[in-house]
Amino acid sequence: MSISIAFFSTKAYERHAFEMINTQLPFGFPIKFFAEILCKGTVALAKSCEVVCAFTSDLIDADVVQQLYRNGTRLLAMRCTGFNNVDLQAAAGKIQVVRATAYSPESIAEYALGLMLMLNRGYLQTDQCVHKGDFVLPNTPGNTLSGKTIGVVGTGSIGRAMVHLLSGFDATILAYDVFQDADFAKTFPVTYTTFEHLLEASDIITLHCPLTADNRHMIHHASIARMKRGVCLVNTARGGLIDTDALIEGLQQGQIGAAALDVYENEQNCFWQDTSRTIDDLRLQQLLSMPNVFISPHQAFFTHEALKRMATITFESIQAYIQHEPLQHEVKAEGITPHS
Ligand code: NAD
Repeated sequence: MSISIAFFSTKAYERHAFEMINTQLPFGFPIKFFAEILCKGTVALAKSCEVVCAFTSDLIDADVVQQLYRNGTRLLAMRCTGFNNVDLQAAAGKIQVVRATAYSPESIAEYALGLMLMLNRGYLQTDQCVHKGDFVLPNTPGNTLSGKTIGVVGTGSIGRAMVHLLSGFDATILAYDVFQDADFAKTFPVTYTTFEHLLEASDIITLHCPLTADNRHMIHHASIARMKRGVCLVNTARGGLIDTDALIEGLQQGQIGAAALDVYENEQNCFWQDTSRTIDDLRLQQLLSMPNVFISPHQAFFTHEALKRMATITFESIQAYIQHEPLQHEVKAEGITPHS
């Protein structure tokens, strides 16, 4: 097999998972791992690699796509679900793009559920207090999920896994999606509604839709103003869905009671790096200084199970490309289709 694959933005844990799965038949691909992110400055590393594998942190704009094409790349295999960092228009007709769909929706849904429980019960503040020897109960009691209304934005593989988990909590579950899944709503205790009604009625809102050209900043000043006062907001989807300035203002004014963010608008500048000496992002500093905000560095996917499935799905797509078979997980510039 002569096709070599350039992997960008790789960390040791991923290399291990991909190397392990690559030993399985029919894979066994020649792989070049690069720690560098894929961007204008590094694209030359992929020279003569027909397949390039990239991740959420890579910056695959029109220039990079053009350069990859000139270098001989014909398949871009994203080893993630989101593809907002790829210029699909630029890739159309030149480079086929696949993604790793539904590699472990439970990993992300379980993490988001954990964030919801944490916000509602103040685990984090308690942990900080007891480590200082303070065993006094918090000033304010927590809230149950039972009896609350929870709004799920996006009912693809992760949103559906979230509804599945929430069905055990005796909560009212509302959902908004640009494509409603009527069969799903018949099977699970979830009611589809408009985005506006979801904002107005929910005590907790959790985001599970992709970031697209149409929904950037779907949570902005006006949408926050529609929410119930004191709402909890959980974002494990993409940072760009939330206007960070509006979020900070909402938190300062108490309109948003608490927020848990696994993703952040400008995460490329700090997530997955050790910036312990210098966080020069003022808005991130502001968020980190708020006691009712929890931030994690885009790690909801990060489980053993997810890494293995991510590697398997990615190699299966590459194998299908080599065999000239249809690419099941292809993404195109026309955008997403219902439950693609
Ligand atoms: P999916 O493609 O299975 O489902 C996405 C759903 O969102 C679809 O049902 C789609 O119709 C819906 N949707 C699209 N635009 C929408 C809009 N404007 N408003 C409401 N719904 C909309 O994807 P998934 O596997 O469920 O993943 C969802 C997102 O989660 C990904 O796009 C990615 O950005 C994010 N994600 C984050 C992590 C993490 O580690 N934090 C890991 C994986 C995925």
